[in-house]
Amino acid sequence: AHAAPGDPVRTTCPYCGTGCGVLGGPAVATPGDTDHPTNFGRVCAKGSALGETLGLENRLLHPAVDGVRTDMARALDRVASRFAETIVEHGPDSVAFYVSGQLLTEDYYVANKLMKGFIGSGNIDTNSRLCMSSSVAGHKRAFGEDLVPCCYEDLDEADLIVLVGSNAAWCHPILFRRMVDARARRGTRIICVDPRRTASAADADLFLGLKPGTDVALFNGLLAFLARDGKVDEGFVAASTAGFSEALDAAWKDGDVASVAAICDVALDDIEAFYRAFADTERVVTVYSQGVNQSSRGTDKVNAIINCHLATGRIGRAGMGPFSFTGQPNAMGGREVGGLANQLAAHMAFENPDDRDRVRRFWNAPRLATGKGLNAVEMFEAVGAGRIKALWVMGTNPAASMPDANRVRAALRACPFLVVSDCVPDTDTLRHAHVALPAAAWGEKDGTVTNSERRISRQRAFMPLPGEAKPDWWMISEVARRLGHAEAFAYRGPADIFREHAALSAFENTGGRVFDIGGLADIADAGYEALRPVQWPVVSGARHGTPRLLGDGRFPTADGRARLVPVRQQAPANPVSHDQPVMLNTGRVRDQWHTMTRTGEVPRLMSATAEPVLDVSPADAAMFGVTEGGLAEVRSLWGRALGRVRITDQQRTGEVFLPMHWTDAFASRASAGRVCNPACDPVSGQPELKHTPAAIAPF
Ligand code: SF4
Repeated sequence: AHAAPGDPVRTTCPYCGTGCGVLGGPAVATPGDTDHPTNFGRVCAKGSALGETLGLENRLLHPAVDGVRTDMARALDRVASRFAETIVEHGPDSVAFYVSGQLLTEDYYVANKLMKGFIGSGNIDTNSRLCMSSSVAGHKRAFGEDLVPCCYEDLDEADLIVLVGSNAAWCHPILFRRMVDARARRGTRIICVDPRRTASAADADLFLGLKPGTDVALFNGLLAFLARDGKVDEGFVAASTAGFSEALDAAWKDGDVASVAAICDVALDDIEAFYRAFADTERVVTVYSQGVNQSSRGTDKVNAIINCHLATGRIGRAGMGPFSFTGQPNAMGGREVGGLANQLAAHMAFENPDDRDRVRRFWNAPRLATGKGLNAVEMFEAVGAGRIKALWVMGTNPAASMPDANRVRAALRACPFLVVSDCVPDTDTLRHAHVALPAAAWGEKDGTVTNSERRISRQRAFMPLPGEAKPDWWMISEVARRLGHAEAFAYRGPADIFREHAALSAFENTGGRVFDIGGLADIADAGYEALRPVQWPVVSGARHGTPRLLGDGRFPTADGRARLVPVRQQAPANPVSHDQPVMLNTGRVRDQWHTMTRTGEVPRLMSATAEPVLDVSPADAAMFGVTEGGLAEVRSLWGRALGRVRITDQQRTGEVFLPMHWTDAFASRASAGRVCNPACDPVSGQPELKHTPAAIAPF
């Protein structure tokens, strides 16, 4: 319902993929929304500090061209004219958009429509490529469509939760609370699979501290164990799947339990305890996150996990299923609209000529892209090679967050025309921009986001737009208008865009696509304003959502069957060596978000981890001569970074950990992205941010 003036406004936290409802307003402490079915009023430290990030001291408030302040109209004129000139001279594939899981779905939709439908290139990719594209690829291989079968209630109703490559206690704290509550209420066991003894591992009933990159062996071993133990659901496998024999053949080849224990470097008893618990528990949810996805074998890891759920028929029913947790608040919304370079829109596929024709007709698009564009790593390589000559970066900081970041910085420096829209005035990427555009921030922008359980929630504005800041959808539409596409981008506001997005999802959908929110296509402005959180699909004629998917044993493939994918254990792309003897892992700390543009503003969040801390095992500290509290340099074939040493037995020997958050804006030479290797998963294109061979030395 509409809030009275001065009342807090129901909105959604802009940080992680949990998607908590919060009450937005000027109060310093941001309360949770007790009515939101994700968090029921709870918030974590980051979410509760949102009110402390609303000041204008660190805001980009006015556009600039070549470093000189100008007005919005002139800045947008420059963007449109340079993009138009570049397209005329070099073709549509000479330009690109690099967007963000921080964008609202409406922003994402408009950006994707402009690039793929009207400029005519597939060159729009998102920082979600770095977050969960391996899960997307794994879902498509197994289910035929990028579908998350589970909902958060499954965490409440499971008897066993397996966390794989997920430090949910820090990265999805409210969901971890739900798991811990389930343990207290019904005795749910939590098993944590991670190379690091994280906060989640410390609170788990069983911890498997496996060697990095051996997840496929672990889950292949589980599949073989389930088969030996008579736990395969023969009826479900026969009626609803294909590929079981081939997947099991591949799994056998990774050996028996003793061999798996040796490959994973985990005690045999612990592996057996995990396998026995999985085999004997009907209600199992396997949660996977960036530790699985950010790998050169990420898609295989995802399918190795899904294979075990398909073999046992544990999918789409209460308290069971494979469950990908997304990192960003709207990674899922980006997937819906086609924000990845290999997607079209509304879960339609470039590879399908009927889908291309459908989208072209729906948009009345003059030049629909004919094939997929460049993914994130390829895109910055193309900028560096001079093939992309005009790039618009929206709401993200690739100069710090991409792997091989030194090369990305060099590419941005050399880019003939770089546009950056952001809400802060100084990022490592903005420093190279020819045009800087002030974007609306959380609390000012209005639209929807979709969380990890497919729940669409409203993000509502409760503050006026400051300076000349504008919503992303508005700036993109204004550029589209200047490029000659006024009619197709004549949106009055986000409700118009949402209705179009919903209508496209249902357009000529005869049941082939599960993603369908046609039931919201006719929503009135007032209904959009008051929209309550709802899980897709919301099919035409309905207003209610769908908590679980795939429980009927039917999958959106040509034959209606899911696929078990045969996968084999393979080593990470770049092995450690004599000169780079340790493996660098990167990830989040509890109280920071991405490159700290917002959380870095809050002293109480900064106080928990004030510096980039390099975690080193005691044996490695002795071996490499680094000391507790001293500075150490991490050096790889791709670059160097500094960290403050913490010696901890939570870290495996031979592996070090550096947070991903710090950038030049906070501490020079602390950016982990400069060190990370750019190897990618060959199926998903997701970079291997969890495994870079490196050396460490006192600094
Ligand atoms: Fe925000 Fe995630 Fe914390 Fe919820 S768990 S309050 S979405 S950061």
